[in-house]
Amino acid sequence: MIQTGPTLSEIESAIRNIPDFPKPGIQFKDITPVLGEAHLFAASIELLIGQFKPGQVDAVVGIDARGFIFAAAAALRLEAGFIPVRKKGKLPHSTYEQNYELEYGTNTIAIHTDAFTSGSRVLLIDDLLATGGTAAAAAALVQKAGAQILEITFLIELSGLKGREKLQGYPIRSLIVY
Ligand code: AMP
Repeated sequence: MIQTGPTLSEIESAIRNIPDFPKPGIQFKDITPVLGEAHLFAASIELLIGQFKPGQVDAVVGIDARGFIFAAAAALRLEAGFIPVRKKGKLPHSTYEQNYELEYGTNTIAIHTDAFTSGSRVLLIDDLLATGGTAAAAAALVQKAGAQILEITFLIELSGLKGREKLQGYPIRSLIVY
């Protein structure tokens, strides 16, 4: 295949590993260098969209906060709406909420109850799949709100944390796997 524009390996090279951020023991994957280079950002959006074309997707759902960046750009590219999944207490209208487990404690995310028309075809995008708790909770919210998930897509997957096991039954795709 003839490759035009940056390859996945150029995007991978731009991702910075920041040890011990925000806590000791975490290897934080910093995607800001990808966002800051126009050609890498554009290529990451094309790769996240994959085989989907305008007209095949009604909405792209992004997860608070870095997921918003990729999902909003993908939504524009696909001529689809953008729907935010936010941390509890941030969305102003009526919401569905979903709890999930963190390493220490729990977290709650929310979506507007009227975010979708029934049966909307949705892509769910986040920057990174780690333990899978966030994406599984977001997927549950999308289903509660009456939409159908076509695919869950990540720029990065930390495969050692086995997040895929929490997302069984959904089509999953990740671009860069560590
Ligand atoms: P999880 O629920 O464990 O799959 O965590 C996924 C969420 O936490 C994503 O929204 C990521 O933005 C963030 N996250 C988790 N681990 C990392 C990491 N090592 N580097 C950057 N972001 C991370």
